[in-house]
Amino acid sequence: MGFVATDVDGTLTTAGVLTAAVVEAIGALAALDVEVLPVSGRAAGEVLGLVRYLPGVRRGIAENGQVLVEADRALTWLAAPPDRAAIEAVAREIAAGQGDPLVLAPDWFCRVGDVAFERAGRPDSAIAPLAEAASQRGLHVVWSSVHIHFSASPPDKGAALMKVLDSIGIARRSVLTMGDAPNDVGLFVHGRFGPSVGTHDVRAHSAYMTSLPAFVCAEREGAAFLTVARALLSSRGA
Ligand SMILES: [Mg+2]
Repeated sequence: MGFVATDVDGTLTTAGVLTAAVVEAIGALAALDVEVLPVSGRAAGEVLGLVRYLPGVRRGIAENGQVLVEADRALTWLAAPPDRAAIEAVAREIAAGQGDPLVLAPDWFCRVGDVAFERAGRPDSAIAPLAEAASQRGLHVVWSSVHIHFSASPPDKGAALMKVLDSIGIARRSVLTMGDAPNDVGLFVHGRFGPSVGTHDVRAHSAYMTSLPAFVCAEREGAAFLTVARALLSSRGA
């Protein structure tokens, strides 16, 4: 049995698309008893789609670690369920104060705990002041390649993953983690898991990441995942 916990956007996807090659690689890993567990900032509803339809994928962590999603099972909260309306109000106030109004991510109806806004091409340097202002109001901000997330509990994909692994009896150090952006830092914290791998894209965000992966691929996005998947497959004789 093997285990890969991976971010989705910019790690499994390339230019926003889950390619046939990546879907095939996930299936090939599953056939060799390597479970791929998506750990995403995306909405619970969207992660449910991945869990239901990707070959061999049984469960996923959504909304930057707030919930565990399994097909045909009730959602499991991994953080305290928040007051989303209150978070949204404070987030809008902070952004308006900076002259930079935020647009709520249209997937809000698929979310259960997270408050996400469109990143809309903002550079890291433009989001960092929002994070600073949010921390003064007791909120946390983290961002991916596509969204800016505000939350009441610290967004920590890695803490959520540790809870899930412990509950299903998988040794943390046997798990390979992958990601591409600042919202993946929890997957990269030294000592939490087995090998941690970043796509090449982490290099561009490293100034805004408190932990960096042990290994960084030469490839970007889904091509990096394919490199890792092929290495795992070949190490298992495929
Ligand atoms: Mg990502």
